Amino acid sequence: MLVTMKKLLARAKNNNCAVGAFSVGNMEMIMGVIKAAEEMNTPVIIQIAEKRLMNSPLELMAPMMVSAAKNAKVDVAVHLDHGLTEECISKALEYGFTSVMLDSSLKPFDENIALTRRIVEKASLYGATVESELGVVGGNEGDTEEHIITCTDPKMAEVFCNETRIDALAVAIGNAHGNYPVSPELRLDVLEQIYSRIDIPLVLHGGTGITEEMFRKCISLGIRKINIATAGFDGLSAYSKKYCDRTDKPDYFTLSAEMVNGVYENTKKHIKIFNNKEN
Ligand SMILES: [Zn+2]
Repeated sequence: MLVTMKKLLARAKNNNCAVGAFSVGNMEMIMGVIKAAEEMNTPVIIQIAEKRLMNSPLELMAPMMVSAAKNAKVDVAVHLDHGLTEECISKALEYGFTSVMLDSSLKPFDENIALTRRIVEKASLYGATVESELGVVGGNEGDTEEHIITCTDPKMAEVFCNETRIDALAVAIGNAHGNYPVSPELRLDVLEQIYSRIDIPLVLHGGTGITEEMFRKCISLGIRKINIATAGFDGLSAYSKKYCDRTDKPDYFTLSAEMVNGVYENTKKHIKIFNNKEN
């Protein structure tokens, strides 16, 4: 069933867990994520970043994502990750996305607030959820530019949330997009300060390669949404390669099933951790 991200974040808060937000780039990835979520009877977020639309056009992805959510046996929110332009965010809302992220974290603070307010207003017309980011998450989001990590300032975050009335805040606490060279030391002290000042659910980007123990610590400090992108793409590629390596004559239909499987296994692994149960 298609639901807002806000609903899933509230549920995560009540259950002291986090909801997984899995990036998708094609039909097989959508199928893999939904299959895992249904099997584990756990709500999930499927998302795509604006920069990835070069590979996977919104006009093709959006109807598939929304339809997959509507037909799923569990609650699914459809989210635009790292929306960079108002135009793209508007399109996603028109297509029925139930959540959007505005990434204007590199803009001056006042400009960021003004722009975010406009998006919050627009999203409210659709009943959609809004996520925003403060500070700089490392790595890159599909471009060649490497960003230097700047941790979210807890005081500024408090002002920002009050001024913009966003629904969820993505934090920068030493996390980075892509694969980490070594598992990162996240600044839990910074996260704790943010959590003590802010009521709304917090979001952790760059979830690929963070340890289970660290995920659980983050959940205990208010992280309610965790983004997994690279691990899903890598899972698809690894399963595809394994299949192609073991046969002389790969066929599309088996390959497609392997892609679904690679994403399914990755999603299942993460959902299990994010549910934050003892076993
Ligand atoms: Zn991100």
